[in-house]
Amino acid sequence: MNQFLRKWFNSFREPETNIVWFFVLPAFAIMAAINIIFISGAALIVSLVIILLIFAAVFLPSLSLSKANYELAIEKGKVNDILTALVDAVIIYDEQFKIIAFNKAAEILFGLKKDEILNHAIQPSAANNLKFRLLAQVIFPSLAPVMIKKSAENEPGQVFDLKIKEPEQKELRVYFNRIIDEKKNLIGFVKVIHDRSREKSVAESKTEFLTIAAHEFRTPLTAIKWAFEALASNSDPGVKDTAGIGLKASGNLLEIVEHLLSAAKIEEGRFGYQFEKVDLTSLIEKVLEKYREPALRHNIKIYFQKPDALEPIEADAEKISIVIGNLISNAIKYNIENGQIAVKAEKISNQPFIEVSVKDTGIGIPPAEQDKIFSKFFRSSNALKFQTEGIGLGLFIVRNIVKRHGGNIWFESEEKRGTTFHFTLPTNPKLIPPKEAAYDE
Ligand code: ADP
Repeated sequence: MNQFLRKWFNSFREPETNIVWFFVLPAFAIMAAINIIFISGAALIVSLVIILLIFAAVFLPSLSLSKANYELAIEKGKVNDILTALVDAVIIYDEQFKIIAFNKAAEILFGLKKDEILNHAIQPSAANNLKFRLLAQVIFPSLAPVMIKKSAENEPGQVFDLKIKEPEQKELRVYFNRIIDEKKNLIGFVKVIHDRSREKSVAESKTEFLTIAAHEFRTPLTAIKWAFEALASNSDPGVKDTAGIGLKASGNLLEIVEHLLSAAKIEEGRFGYQFEKVDLTSLIEKVLEKYREPALRHNIKIYFQKPDALEPIEADAEKISIVIGNLISNAIKYNIENGQIAVKAEKISNQPFIEVSVKDTGIGIPPAEQDKIFSKFFRSSNALKFQTEGIGLGLFIVRNIVKRHGGNIWFESEEKRGTTFHFTLPTNPKLIPPKEAAYDE
């Protein structure tokens, strides 16, 4: 009740009611006084009622307008409080790129005061001025030295990463959306900017550490593997068996080291690709040959459904071998004893892509964990119980190679039934991105 009275009392004080207090009320009071002096009886009562009704007709609309404005001001205050409290920078601008809102975090990130930027239209030419360069690059992302789209073209909200060089190096993630009113009219655009510079530099030093360590491990490990290889051909069965165990362990360790080095190079955008004309069918056959023996050890049969003659595609043969090798190796690792693997390659009709799929009869991937499967170091709960070997980098590397070729990768999986991985590669070289970029989610 108290709050209700306070609300009414506050709206009495709004400027919209000033006209009532300073002009209408005195005028009506004078009219009432004149009537009281010159009229009497029933006529006086009727005239006073009429004056009161006219006063109410003038007063009530201005009171409800002031009440609405008062509530609007409270809502605006709440929105401002929320914007101020946000750790991420928020900017809102209209169709003419005029800044409508600029929160505290934006002031810090862009090094600009709200007052000097609010209601000013930002043009691309603002990037020529060092003071406004960062803001111009966020509003017009194509001006940034590096811009990587993270969301699909037709999604309502857009997400992209920006790498900024000047005035200082920054890594920003920008969430972008349109603001529309109830009648679907465009009011403006909102951008929420998350400064990832610090997280990125911590991640980079971790990667640097891993790269150095992996580099140092590679040479001695290769020597150990050779030594075991030599011992494995020994005629003494005892030596041969022990050497076989050593050979397998050193091989696994070398694979981990190679994965760490590849992932680090991918993150730095220097995995290095050599594109050439590749015959995918014979490439797949060559990779499958390597995995027939390990598959046989688990009684797993590999079938390859050869396509009708495929046209050669522009690709990096070595990197595509890594993709196929990893998918086959996983299909063996996460398969059941006596399982099967079916590999298929075919041209997608009416599309400039070839699709390759690897289907297994293995443990599958739990539905709740499926969206994390391409993330670095992720291993599903059932895989951890079933197969201790692996560090969860293979699919991260595989996805990056496929994306670098302009293709896509996805899978279907059912627990305890099996998994099918599919990836596409373009037959039109124009669909290959011009340069390397890391896809880390
Ligand atoms: P790793 O095999 O070294 O763990 P990967 O990146 O190749 O790393 O795979 C990540 C995770 O994805 C695996 O740990 C496993 O949980 C799951 N996975 C990959 N391939 C399959 C598959 N064919 N069947 C079931 N799970 C799979």
